[in-house]
Amino acid sequence: MSATLQAPSTAAGGPPKLLDADLRARLLGHVVTTGDRDAIAVTSPMTEQPLGEIPSGTADDVAEAVRRARLAQPSWAALPVRERARILMRAHDLVFDRQAEVLDLIQLEAGKVRAHAYEEVADTAMVAAYYARTARRHLADRRRGGALPVLTSTREVRHPKGVVGFIAPWNYPLSMSITDAIPALMAGNACVIKPAQTTPFTALWIVDLLVEAGVPREVLQVVTGRGSTIGTPLIERCDFVTFTGSTEVGRSVAAQAGERLIGCALELGGKNPSIVLDDADVDRAVAGSIQGCFASAGQLCISIERLFVHRDVLEEFTTKFVAAVEDLQLSAALAYGGEMGSLQSRSQLDTVTRHVDDARRKGATVLTGGEPRPDVGPLFHAPTVLTGVGRDSVLSVEETFGPVAPIIEVTDDHDAVTLANASEYGLAAYVYSAELGRALAVAERLQAGMVGVNRGSISDPAAPFGGMKQSGLGREGGFEGIHEFLEVSY
Ligand code: NAP
Ligand code: MG
Repeated sequence: MSATLQAPSTAAGGPPKLLDADLRARLLGHVVTTGDRDAIAVTSPMTEQPLGEIPSGTADDVAEAVRRARLAQPSWAALPVRERARILMRAHDLVFDRQAEVLDLIQLEAGKVRAHAYEEVADTAMVAAYYARTARRHLADRRRGGALPVLTSTREVRHPKGVVGFIAPWNYPLSMSITDAIPALMAGNACVIKPAQTTPFTALWIVDLLVEAGVPREVLQVVTGRGSTIGTPLIERCDFVTFTGSTEVGRSVAAQAGERLIGCALELGGKNPSIVLDDADVDRAVAGSIQGCFASAGQLCISIERLFVHRDVLEEFTTKFVAAVEDLQLSAALAYGGEMGSLQSRSQLDTVTRHVDDARRKGATVLTGGEPRPDVGPLFHAPTVLTGVGRDSVLSVEETFGPVAPIIEVTDDHDAVTLANASEYGLAAYVYSAELGRALAVAERLQAGMVGVNRGSISDPAAPFGGMKQSGLGREGGFEGIHEFLEVSY
């Protein structure tokens, strides 16, 4: 099981090669196909060179995957909770032991720098450990007082839903393919995962690792191919569906789930605001904004997409922020050291270019960046800071999902909250103030599922993560994140 990638280092300038044949074969062994299928080429955004091929799955393949999962699910659910927890704890250890292999894979498929790939490794391991440690509490029966206290009592019992379908995105190909499936497995469900067609090998890697840790192969099925072909067949057969991706596709997933009266969880886009108040520690706000705007080159659902800065600190913030952005080290190397990587696809690069050009045409000023960086890699875009972005610009309204930070001046807390809430999205938000009470008062008024106070990261496996408004439905993480994969009866 120690197959490695074929020295794909770009550090010395050489392009990534095809994934090692043994590794590819081992990973593709997890894909369900019921016949010969057309192949879909997977290419690395670092170089636009091929990494391998996956089968273009069909409705028959999905039906077979769900059939196998359904057959295997009852005996998985019948295991004692502590046995499933032991398996997940082993997966936690293995993820750290094998990180070098998956760090390469994530970088090759997603185009991000190693430090950002590592965040996925750590997140995946943390989520596995969190649910391994807390599952007994989350899954335990509960006693309620009953309608006639003392005379009667009520026992609440939790059951797995059955087979859960997961439709995963390409921006966090490790963590977003599996961190939702982990609580579903812990709760005794079987899972069928459909990874994004551009990042399947990372998803297959973590499935392979979970099987090695002890999850029965049949309990964790994978179908590969086009979402437009196999998405609907999956939703038609599973008992619950979790989708992460665009709001447009999410809406259609929810409509199909609604037609079948099954539940769904949707993790969609955002136009996330960050607010820097006049008493903020500006250096801290700059550091948090660098992380918030440029992690995974801005291709993160909780990325900062609008920076609201109080006029009293606007000049200091802008000067320091632009300097920090200009210091960022762009890199396509499969090694630590780079601070921002590539966009993941040509269509992402096109979107970023379109948003920046539109803003510029409508009068915005580019303070730094503003252009693709083909000198680093074919799909790189410079980290970009703008001012004077009009409200009529697409950059003000639509999710960009790229390394672009528009700075907008605000005059007071109320102004900041009003502008921040003027979006159809409501995923994450950030507030910087020296006075905690003031920051919390602003945070409470923000229409967002998560608000970071004086910090650039909001990740916490014990807390319910999810969006308000058009940013999604349901919560992952914590009790809510396992509860959605359960039926409750009494
Ligand atoms: P997308 O089309 O929504 O893709 C996400 C997942 O849905 C992929 O696995 C995709 O499969 C699948 N899918 C596509 N069409 C489907 C359908 N009709 N039914 C069921 N599943 C379907 O997202 P995208 O086009 O890759 O990215 C577009 C935008 O979505 C981004 O610019 C960004 O704004 C947003 N996005 C958000 C997140 C997030 O973390 N919240 C993640 C990714 C994207 P295929 O890969 O086979 O198409
Ligand atoms: Mg799409």
